[in-house]
Amino acid sequence: MTEPVLDPGSVIGVLGGGQLGAMFAGAARQLGYRVAVWDPDPDAPALQLADHSFTAPFSDEETRSRFSRSVSAVTFEWENVPADLCEWLELQHPVRPSGSALRIIQDRIRQKQFLQHHLLPLAPFAIIESPDQLPNAINALGLPALCKTARSGYDGKGQWLIQKAADTDQVSASLHASARDGQRWILEQHISFERELSVLVVRNAGGECRTYPAVDNQHERGILRLTLVPSSLSAETAAHASRLAIHAVSALNSAGVFCVEFFHTTDGRLLINEIAPRPHNSGHYTLAACTVSQFEQQVRVLCGAPIGEAKLMCPAAMVNLIGDEVRTVTAGPGYRDLMAIPGAVLHLYGKRTIRAGRKMGHVTFLAEERAIAEERARWLMKRLA
Ligand code: AMP
Repeated sequence: MTEPVLDPGSVIGVLGGGQLGAMFAGAARQLGYRVAVWDPDPDAPALQLADHSFTAPFSDEETRSRFSRSVSAVTFEWENVPADLCEWLELQHPVRPSGSALRIIQDRIRQKQFLQHHLLPLAPFAIIESPDQLPNAINALGLPALCKTARSGYDGKGQWLIQKAADTDQVSASLHASARDGQRWILEQHISFERELSVLVVRNAGGECRTYPAVDNQHERGILRLTLVPSSLSAETAAHASRLAIHAVSALNSAGVFCVEFFHTTDGRLLINEIAPRPHNSGHYTLAACTVSQFEQQVRVLCGAPIGEAKLMCPAAMVNLIGDEVRTVTAGPGYRDLMAIPGAVLHLYGKRTIRAGRKMGHVTFLAEERAIAEERARWLMKRLA
């Protein structure tokens, strides 16, 4: 049985109104849908593109009912929206991905246990239920290791690197200071990797999957700096990454756009770092370089339309504009020089306030060869530094 398709003109809802929600709303409007955006921050960028705006806290029951009445289907733009809310909305509408998939992913411990249960390769880890368990976890895993909060971490926030035994007391004190009710942590072996990569998987309600090519990612201080596509992995390893990504996403048994992040270790293994249940920063290049972007795929899957082609039309390099860096390329000679580069596509998120570590926009460089796109991206990174 084929599922009903929501035709253009229908109202589709997104929980969360950051840049991912805004790019989703842009793709939805381009296809003729109307968009309801719910974000408690009245300055959230996606609200500028909303047909219906909701800015109450996610716990507000009256808003929950109004939001539900205004939409025919719902998605979310990041994994820290309340799974309870998704499950409640799911009683009335398609919610993609599902509340149960979100529940697994938004807790690092549940996510790791889930992936382990499905025999997917991971960095060795230990669960920490209370800060006092940190020394035992370190004994079990060895050093260096990374301690991460089980919930609500992103862009390297809520993470502590433990290089040597002498760092333990300081990290333990930070865990005590950040401990809230029910807070748990995970300790992960620090992986020596050759590269980080990610694979976007689009999965529809019937279980059909399509992947975008693997991309190489470089992070700085836990935040994505640069994405290069296609990945420099061998074709065989890239195909293996795609198979693992499809396996992981299919195990979740939910529809949507997912990003599976990997470490390619110095000894040649692929380990899954984490899964995002939504379009991903490392997939922003798809807006400029692919036949159908990751955001349009999110709209298509939500509305029951066929999955779009996920074909790379040319090599690309994407550089994030983080915090103050955005000023370098949005005024004066920096702006002029950037716009003079062939194949440079600037995308600003319209955030009113600049904060350190905040993603303000990105630039995608398109070129006939990956090396040329990378060279231009590195020119920009030097200029931003
Ligand atoms: P995460 O929020 O878990 O994706 O971590 C952000 C970044 O920190 C990753 O993209 C890596 O660059 C780094 N990182 C996270 N976990 C590990 C690990 N176990 N070993 C080495 N680097 C890591």
